Amino acid sequence: MTTRTQNKNRGGRVQTSSSSRVRSNGSKSQTQKSSSGKKQKTLENLLEDGLKDIYSAETQLIEALPEMAKAAYSEDLQDAFTNHLNETKRQAERIEKIFSRLGIEKSDTKKCEAMEGLIEEGQNILEEYEEGSVRDSALIIAAQKVEHYEIAAYGSLCELCDVLGYNQIGSTLGRSLDEEKNTDDILNDIAQDVNDDAYEMSEQDKEGQESQSDSNQ
Ligand code: FE
Ligand code: FE
Ligand code: FE
Repeated sequence: MTTRTQNKNRGGRVQTSSSSRVRSNGSKSQTQKSSSGKKQKTLENLLEDGLKDIYSAETQLIEALPEMAKAAYSEDLQDAFTNHLNETKRQAERIEKIFSRLGIEKSDTKKCEAMEGLIEEGQNILEEYEEGSVRDSALIIAAQKVEHYEIAAYGSLCELCDVLGYNQIGSTLGRSLDEEKNTDDILNDIAQDVNDDAYEMSEQDKEGQESQSDSNQ
């Protein structure tokens, strides 16, 4: 069995996905087909697919975050979404630079369906909840689901870069990973206040409903 250490290509040389590669252990990288007829994918292919997926996720978020910021009732939450929109734009640019280093066509990406679904869940909140603290609580939860998806995506891409010896690309992606983690922390902090307000609002609404049903009896 080949160990992970033996498999590492730590030369730091950037190889394009289109070039035909032979790994140091002598196996062909991507032209083989398995008995099932599927293309034999390599870790480089996995890295490329993952980069395309997170790029699609980031570009979808650039479209969605302004709407989230506009919908937020709390000023802190508005600011958090707006600041993260700017970070998200920079994250997309970082991936574009990585694409050009690796010879990946930007137009060749396919849609991240998970992010499409998470964004749709966020948009449903706007239709189902009235503006206010309870809706902000729901928006924070939706946003944290997004951040956790991104943390998983960038974390695994950093690992792949580590295994493949793409140190510079790994550290670039690590900056985006840190930003996603930091955003998650900020949302946690904002949630403390927003959830307290939402609790009070919910209690007031319940009292209002109870006294109305009493007077109707
Ligand atoms: Fe992001
Ligand atoms: Fe995805
Ligand atoms: Fe993010």
